[in-house]
Amino acid sequence: PDLVPDLRGTSSRVGVFDAHAVKRDFPILNQQVHGKPLIWLDNAATTQKPRQVIERLTRYYEHENSNIHRAAHALAARSTDAYEAAREKTRRFLNAGSTEEIVFVRGATEGINLIAKAWGERNVREGDEIVVTWLEHHANIVPWQQLAAKVGARLRVAPVDDSGQIILEEYEKLLGPRTRLVSLTQVSNALGTVTPAAEMTAMAHRHGALVLVDGAQAVSHMPVDVQALDCDFYVFSGHKVFAPTGIGAVFGKKAVLEHMPPWQGGGNMIADVTFEKTLFQPAPARFEAGTGNIADAVGLGAAIDYVEAIGMATIAAWEHQLLEYGTQGLLSIPGLRLVGTAKEKAGVLSFVIDGCRTEDIGKALDGEGIAVRSGHHCAQPILRRFGVESTVRPSLAFYNTYEDLDALVNALRRLPSARG
Ligand code: PLP
Repeated sequence: PDLVPDLRGTSSRVGVFDAHAVKRDFPILNQQVHGKPLIWLDNAATTQKPRQVIERLTRYYEHENSNIHRAAHALAARSTDAYEAAREKTRRFLNAGSTEEIVFVRGATEGINLIAKAWGERNVREGDEIVVTWLEHHANIVPWQQLAAKVGARLRVAPVDDSGQIILEEYEKLLGPRTRLVSLTQVSNALGTVTPAAEMTAMAHRHGALVLVDGAQAVSHMPVDVQALDCDFYVFSGHKVFAPTGIGAVFGKKAVLEHMPPWQGGGNMIADVTFEKTLFQPAPARFEAGTGNIADAVGLGAAIDYVEAIGMATIAAWEHQLLEYGTQGLLSIPGLRLVGTAKEKAGVLSFVIDGCRTEDIGKALDGEGIAVRSGHHCAQPILRRFGVESTVRPSLAFYNTYEDLDALVNALRRLPSARG
């Protein structure tokens, strides 16, 4: 029997959006694993790719492949056009003011490291402070620790309440004349908390600090507008938003990027080289040394076209329903504790079950064809804040359906210690 409380109305739809129909765009989801239909609930780790993205990569390699910018022939013009068109799509996706504000990188991790090196080493001095939050992924902790150790700065951490939401009054107390940068996630990968990023940015700016927003877990779930956020930097990874691995972007306000030195040297980022002196290109080329990930940038452009055709607001509305439905279902499991119960959440349902090891739950679900992550999710501090080292983390994308969540909850009910 279907043991999930029935919240779902008639079908897996919002408006004209039909999750079953879009799922058919994702060839990988049409397979069996351990003899069961694959149910992909590991979207916070990486998302699957629609046929439109896969076909765009094939077209690039079959018709356009060339290095960009450097050669005057037809294929170089095609690949350069495709690469720069992807930059324009990324600009539009983030609502940045100019393509000069969009730098292609390998992903969020590389983006944060770029900022820590190029901006941080020039602007953060001994005794200065960098503020992060308890929710951060290791990618938004370690580069700041490394920078702080190098220049003698201090890392300060904004706490969360028992629901996993930032305590704004405590955050504000950390801001002061020594604060150079606040670096915060927009959505927590371990708990799903949506932080008040715009409000936190405005508070940081009142103290003269710059703000970096880590959008790795936000971009696939909600519309993003860097001008409305007013952040100075924004980073994300393409693979978390239905694009290939190895491509991502840094948004930086033009006035900030203009005053940043390069972080890597080589071809593409120079205007003129002699043995005595090198003149650098302006942004974004200044930050894109060497041959970049041209094909996958083009793939990112195709992924952005794909999600924009559905509409990020539609995606957000559908996933909100899924999250509510999944939350109710999980709470019906005896002994299950949700980790992260903030009112504002996106994409993630993290939990533990009394008497069950998280690895064993992950393995049992895998046996049912259900892919979730169990572990520390590269966010050990926040899990320890909730007294655990590991959780089970089903995470959503718009192609998930009520039936996927029914399968999850029903599989959990069959676990020996969850029968109540
Ligand atoms: N920030 C957050 C919030 C993440 O969830 C992740 C990946 O899980 C990252 C940063 C790092 O992304 P990547 O490994 O794609 O560089």
